Amino acid sequence: MNRTLLIIKPDAVKRNLIGVILKHIIDAGFKVIAMKMLWPDKDMGAQFYEIHKGKPFYDWLVDFISSGPIVTCCVSHTGGAQKLREVVGATDPKKAAPGTIRNLYGTSTGENVVHASAPDENPEREIHFFFSDEELFEY
Ligand code: UDP
Ligand code: MG
Repeated sequence: MNRTLLIIKPDAVKRNLIGVILKHIIDAGFKVIAMKMLWPDKDMGAQFYEIHKGKPFYDWLVDFISSGPIVTCCVSHTGGAQKLREVVGATDPKKAAPGTIRNLYGTSTGENVVHASAPDENPEREIHFFFSDEELFEY
């Protein structure tokens, strides 16, 4: 099993979509091995998304991710980060494949309901941004 990070973003939490998104992930064969609800402050948002610093949407993104509570989950699947990206769909919900989470629930390129680690951007760094080794359960 290969683990990766999923974040249910503030737009989805506010719209009461925590349950449907988790059901979608679990139905796709993922196992939840850690989960935490928190409200990130701007410093935390800026640090998590530092890879995007300098891009035109960076300031908006930091404001957005710190605009309400989020649910962070470490999930595992044989297909790992790549499989989660397939289930989540493209960044822009209008371009996301039918039946993907962003296609079903996303409302704009920014407010796209979830974050999923990119396979080539170190999912383990993102997992450990939120979870210690002791919080990642092997069961
Ligand atoms: N984003 C945005 N405008 C853009 C591109 C991205 O608001 O033109 C936001 C969006 O919420 C996205 C996040 O920034 O999920 C991170 O962007 P990235 O390109 O890494 O997309 P992702 O990996 O989330 O599909
Ligand atoms: Mg990304």
